[in-house]
Parts: sequence; C-alpha cells; structure tokens
Amino acid sequence: MASKGPGMLDQYRAIKQEHPDTVLFFRMGDFYEMFYEDAVLGAEVLGITLTSRDKNAENPVPMAGVPWHSVEDYLRKMVQAGHKVTVCEQASDPLPGEKILRRVVSRVYTPGSLYEDSLIGEDGSALLASVVLKSDSLGLALLDTSTGRAWAQQFTGPSRFDRLRDEMLRWSPAELVTTSKDAINESMRSVIIDVDGLSLSTHECSPKRRMEVVRHHLDIADLGSIDLDSRPHGMEACGLGASYISSLHLIDSVPLREISVEDDSDYMSLDQTTLKNLELTQTLLGERVGSLLHAIDQTRTWMGRRMLKEWLLRPLMDKNRIAERHSAISSLVRASKRLAEIRSCLQSMRDLERLSTRLAYDRANARDLIAISDALSRMPRLQGLVNESSDGLLISLGNGLTKLESIRTIIEHELVEEPPHTIRDGGIFRIGINESLDELRNRSGEGKDWLKGFEERERERLNIPSLKVKFNRQFGYFVEVTKVHTDKVPKEYRRRQTLTNAERYTTDELAEWEDIILNAGGRANDLEYRLFLELRERVKVQSSVLSQIARNVAAIDVLCSLAEQSRRRSWVRPEIFEDDRLDIIAGRHPVLEEIEGFVPNDIQFAKNRKFLLLTGPNMGGKSTYLRQTALISILAQAGSFVPASKARIGLIDRVFTRVGAHDDLRRGRSTFMVEMIEVAHILRRATSRSLVLLDEVGRGTSTFDGLAIAWSVTEDLAKRIGARSLFATHYHQLVGLEGEIESLFNIHVQVAEINRELTFLHTVSEGPCDDSYGVQVASLAGLPTSVIERARDLLIFLEQQAEGARAGGKGIPLSRPNGQSSLFGWMVNSEINSEIQPSIPSAPLLSDRQRDLLERLSALDPDMMTPREALDALYALKAEEQGKEKMPDWVEE
Ligand code: ADP
Ligand code: MG
Repeated sequence: MASKGPGMLDQYRAIKQEHPDTVLFFRMGDFYEMFYEDAVLGAEVLGITLTSRDKNAENPVPMAGVPWHSVEDYLRKMVQAGHKVTVCEQASDPLPGEKILRRVVSRVYTPGSLYEDSLIGEDGSALLASVVLKSDSLGLALLDTSTGRAWAQQFTGPSRFDRLRDEMLRWSPAELVTTSKDAINESMRSVIIDVDGLSLSTHECSPKRRMEVVRHHLDIADLGSIDLDSRPHGMEACGLGASYISSLHLIDSVPLREISVEDDSDYMSLDQTTLKNLELTQTLLGERVGSLLHAIDQTRTWMGRRMLKEWLLRPLMDKNRIAERHSAISSLVRASKRLAEIRSCLQSMRDLERLSTRLAYDRANARDLIAISDALSRMPRLQGLVNESSDGLLISLGNGLTKLESIRTIIEHELVEEPPHTIRDGGIFRIGINESLDELRNRSGEGKDWLKGFEERERERLNIPSLKVKFNRQFGYFVEVTKVHTDKVPKEYRRRQTLTNAERYTTDELAEWEDIILNAGGRANDLEYRLFLELRERVKVQSSVLSQIARNVAAIDVLCSLAEQSRRRSWVRPEIFEDDRLDIIAGRHPVLEEIEGFVPNDIQFAKNRKFLLLTGPNMGGKSTYLRQTALISILAQAGSFVPASKARIGLIDRVFTRVGAHDDLRRGRSTFMVEMIEVAHILRRATSRSLVLLDEVGRGTSTFDGLAIAWSVTEDLAKRIGARSLFATHYHQLVGLEGEIESLFNIHVQVAEINRELTFLHTVSEGPCDDSYGVQVASLAGLPTSVIERARDLLIFLEQQAEGARAGGKGIPLSRPNGQSSLFGWMVNSEINSEIQPSIPSAPLLSDRQRDLLERLSALDPDMMTPREALDALYALKAEEQGKEKMPDWVEE
C-alpha cells in the first residue's frame, strides 16, 4: 500500500491542476480513488459509497474508490454520463529517497476518444467532431478513434453554421473539440446546445501545427493522394482533432488510416429535421428498432453494420457511383446461391477494423491475433466468390483481400488455437516454434512430473495416504501432512508452517525442484511474452493494410445485406436520372410495408408537375405517403434497391421535411416559432433539385395566420424555387391553387363513407379531397353523438363564413414584387436564432367579408366606368353587404 502521508494529496492536487475539467482516478494499491468534489460526483454517477479520508480530522477529505480490476466498467459509466476521466497509475518503483510512490497519468478518457469495444460497444461509435472557425468559413472534421477514419469538410458563407448543425445531427458525435476562443463564439454555442449529449472540449494547437499533424499522419498512412490544399480548413480541423486525441492518449501520433475529404455536393444533404423525422437510424423516441436502418439491416459483421449506417446517412449524388452499387446488388440478387455463400463466409467474422486499431495501439492480445488470422483465412474463399460474380464493383472490392496471407500463416503456425487473455503468463505459442522456449518448458514440465511422482512415492514410503504436495505464493511448494500422521514424518522433513489440523514441510530435494519449476516456468513465460511482442509488431506494421481489407469486407457485407433485403422483400432496382422526375409505381414504406394490408401507392413528379398538394382526412395515410416518398429516394441514392414495382428518380440534392407539430421547450420556442424557423430554413436552402415534404404547415397558429403562411409558402416553393414538393394539408382552401399555379396539382387520400361511417382506403388519387372529414374522424374516436351532430351544423356555418378565403377565388391580393418587405420576407432573410423574438405586425381587425368588400371596391376603376356601370357596381356591393349580414340561410329553414 502507498504511504498515506500528506504528500500524497499534494501529488493529487498537482495532477488535478493539470487536468482541471476531468475526474481524477488516482491509483492507490488495489483501488482508484477520487477525492474532494470528484468523489462526490463519482459516488453519485457510479452509485458507490462516499467515505472520507482522515475521518477524525477537522475537515475530512471526501473520498470514493473503485477496485482496479473492474475499472473499465466504471470508466464506461463515467464517460457515458458525459464526464472525462484522467487515469493516474502508480509508478512501479520509487526512486531512491522517495517516500511515496510517484503517480503518472496514463490516459485521459473522454466520450469522443475511445477505441475499446468494452467502452463503446461493438456497434457503438465514439465520434469526435473537431471544428475550426475562420472569418467566413469553418472547417469540420469527424474522427473515429476506434477505426482510425476521419472525414474533413469545409463550409463557407452564411449557412455554414446550419451545415455544421446538420452534420452534428447526422453523425451525433459524442464530443466536440475546438479552441477556447472558438468555443465562445455565439453561433457555435447555439449549435452545441442543439446537439443532445454533446460534450464540449477545448484544445489549443496553432494553425501551422495542425497542418503538420495532418501531414505526419498522411505520411505514415501513405495516403499522399489527398490534396491538402483543397479543403484547408477541413484539414486544419482534422489536425486539431488528431492533436487533441494524441494529447489524451499520451502518444506522439494517432493511428489515422484515412482522411476522406468531402464536398457538400458529393452527397445528398439531409438536414436535422429530416434526419429526425424520417427515423433513418433511430426513431423519434431514440430507439433503433423501428428505424429504417434496423428494418433493412441484414449485415453479418459489425464493420458492415457501421458502413450500412454511413451509406444511409450519406446518399450519393453521383449517378455512376450509384449505378455501381445497384449493379452489384443486381448481380447478387440474380445469384442467390452465391449470395448465401458469401454471407455464410462473413458470418461472425470478427471486427477487423477495430482489431487493426487495437494493434495500432499495442493493445492486441493473442486472442486478437487468432481472430485476425481466422478472418484472414476466409479471404481466399471470399475473393473467389466475389470474382465469380463478374461484377465490376464486387471484383474491385475483392482485390487485395488476400494480401495478408503470409501474416495469417505465421499466426496460425505459431500460436495455439485458444490462447489465454493475458500475454504475460505463457501458454501462447505452440511447441516447436522456439528451441529455448521448448527447453524451458520441458524443464518446468519435468519438474511437474517429478512432483507428481514424489507425492505418490512419499505416500507409499511413509504410509500416509492423505499426504499432499501443494503450492502457495508465500511458501512455494510444500508437503502437507494431517496432525494424525505427523509421528510418521521422517527426519529430513523440515517444518515450515503449522496449521490447526496439519503441518507443512519441505525437503532439500523438493526445494531443488521447486527452484527448477519456478525458474524455468517464469523464464518460459518471459520468453513467450517477448516473442509475442515481436510477433505483434510484425502484424502491426500491416495494420493499415488490414484496415483497408476491413473496409472492403464491410462494403461487400453491405452490398450483400442490401441484396438479401431486396430478395426477401421483392424490391426493385431504381433508375436514376439527372432531371426533375420522381416517378414511383406501387411504392411502399420500407419500415411499414410488412404490416398486413399495407396499400402501395404511386407518385409522379415531372418537369411541369412539381408541387403536389395532398389533402384528406386525418389518419388517411398522408404522413406515411410523404415519408415513404423520401425514404425511397434516400434508399435509391444510397445505392439500394427500393420497395416499389418501378421507380425512376431524378437525382435529389437535398431532402427537407417539416413534419408534425412539436414544441421545443428546451429552447423555449413555441410550436409556431419552431415551425416557422424550419420553414424559413427550407425556403432559404431548397433548390430546384430538392425534395421538400411539408406536413401540416401552419398548424401551430390560428387558422387564418396558418392558412396565409401555408399559402404563401406554397407559392414561393412552387413559383420561385421549383423544388419537388409534397404538401399534406388540412387547409382545403388551398386546393383552388391548382388552376393558379401551373406546376401545382391536387392529390388526395381516399376514404369511403358508408352510412356516415368512414373507411380509410389509404389510396392516393388525383384531385382534391371533398371534405376534411374531421367530424367523422372525431366520431370514430368515440365523441358522443350529440356533440358530433352539433359539430356538423357548426361546420356548415363556419365553412360558409370562410367562403371568402378560398384559393383560386376572386380578390386575392397579388404577389408582392421581390424585395418588398413583409413578415415572411423578414423571417426568410434574416438569420433566426432563439434570442430574437420577432414583433409580428398586427393586421387591422377586419372580418374576411369586410376585407373581401374592400378588395372588390379597390378593384373598381371609376374612370373606366359609365355612370350606369358605376351605379350597378354600387348596388351590387350594397346588396352583398346586406345579404351576408343576415344569419345563414339554413338557420331560417
Ligand atoms: P395522416 O397523416 O393522414 O393522419 P398517417 O400517415 O399518420 O395518416 O397514417 C395513419 C394510419 O394509417 C397509420 O396507422 C398508418 O399505419 C396507416 N397507413 C398509412 N398509410 C397506409 C397504407 N398505405 N396502407 C395501410 N395503412 C396505412
Ligand atoms: Mg399526418
């Protein structure tokens, strides 16, 4: 045990000062101790007892500890709770004259810098986002320590923080690192707040140094092909992140395998709301089950599973790359026997990507090497199978799979089949690998044989059947004789220890052999350890090749998964075009299609048909239809087949959704505010190649505000932007726009009404829906008949009242010329953040009818009228004003 003098706490405080924002795990003997506020926090997070040091002192120091052997469990809990932990070990030997053991920091654990499966889970990932801000641009890199992969991006212009936010939501990194100066930037802080559970860290590293770090990595990984200057800020971010990770791991350089430089236009962009609402990788409730990823995952390996997620979150924009994936799937679907064989070859293959990282960090044990050789042993067969496919992509993925045959042979030849977890206690190498090892083992084996014989011989010679030869750490080997027989013990037995029921002895001969056994055994173990380190080093130099093999296997796994899915569910190969069409026949929702009675639906967008206004009752299937359209498009561009009988898709650059009403109470925004921010964001960023899904926009406010906004948003999307847009709405007033806006068409979800009972057909057809059916839906929900009847009457009344506010009717104000300010223009043109609360100009309090009259009045041009026409117009207005003032006709009947 370490000394408990006051010096120890000084030591503690000194280390704590160096790592102020982390919890210190301070090794003391068999425990890692926490002190002061760390102890209080640790006790709470880990559910362990809070005690104190020097209990009798005036100000006892709070203390809590965890046993060394289960420290990983506790580390995991701390880090998952978002804390950073500095682990501090005891130096093994005190320097001369030292009273207390030195402590050295061995590593800092943070949520985004982990690589151990035991800490992040096999399918989990612990991404680190690293950000650098420049005047009009920002660099973002995402680093996955567990696989050594990094992605660098750079965003420029006013929407750069929006893009940053999207990427954060897309990849949900566990931690973000930036400089302390950038960390207090306003826009940056608002992004950080938006990402759940993101832990923020700061790290300083000069711009010059950042680039050096990247260059250094590229050298070791031999990836000179990357153009460092094309995305300098992205690269700087990457350098900052890598420098941060190496500072945590206390190593010179992080094993980075690959830096992918990405351009915004390489991938379909999916904004945060879309990612959430479409439930691509998790449901709105945060669960995996029910997400698109879960529904289509037929992968066989963890590396494949992670890559499938990447593909889904990063649909391609390049027609040729998409076609390559489609062709590979086609060829696999056609050859279902081969598909099954490849999949069985992949079955339970260990995670080579993570294993190569363990190697790079010198953390691999003999079992890991066996797992690597097991995986490598399948490569020749895998390569043979993919080559048979004669598909270009598959064959290129098969290339190089067998590069490490020699490594496999060595491992297989040298290591036993089931080596132990630890690498210090021998039992790793086969016999015949190393002569000295065999000799040492033989001697230690001889010794063990002699022991066995000795025990038997002595039992017989002394006539003590219960005599035993035993071993313990303190006394080594000894003979144990129960008290009853001690009188038979010969002179040459020397007593070593007395127990209640027995005596323990040794002899000269036993001591001699003990020496041989312990020495030879220990030396054999040491030798094995050295041999293992040598072998591991030989494998380690190949770790980046191994990682490349892992990526190829992962891609094969994903293609097989997509093929298997298509085969099982009869999905078809979509055709991809570079135009504005979106033509899906009998499309299904990829997650819901398995439910009984799911009704397939068509959708058609074309050059002159780009806005579809979808009406129909609640529960009619509108939201499902919207989602399935987006999901099919995403699947198609991710390279997958799709749930439809035919699909022709013009490349979509961005998908936007505004689905359902939800309050964002966390940031104190009302439903309406959230909705308007999202809509503003869509109008700002959508292009003519985007797909926009609007579900019930305008719901969060009073009817006319909402209607007016829905209406003008429709006009903007259809006329100015020209994005393919699908708008599900309960504002029936909008259906009249069909004649007004050339590219706008009405569609509706069908219902059958029999004896005032509704049946949802879930079929989408051309044309508007007659009625909102809201009252019928309410009756289905079980509202009392009297309430329903009253509601029917009121509905008729209200509809007549609102007659004036129908799209396509007379007297609609003309669109304002561009640039003329209006409320919406304000929303659209300014960067909206939560601090700004717009003051909404209040409209004059006119009824719709009054407004209608005013419109008509202002439409009259007296100069162009004969006196007779002027008089007629005046009478008409008067009659209208009086006629409508009365109660509606039906009240009198
Ligand atoms: P809406 O948005 O019109 O209120 P939803 O899309 O939320 O309707 O769907 C309502 C219900 O109808 C859901 O339970 C959904 O599973 C079911 N549904 C939707 N579309 C279909 C379909 N095409 N076939 C069968 N059931 C469907
Ligand atoms: Mg809905």
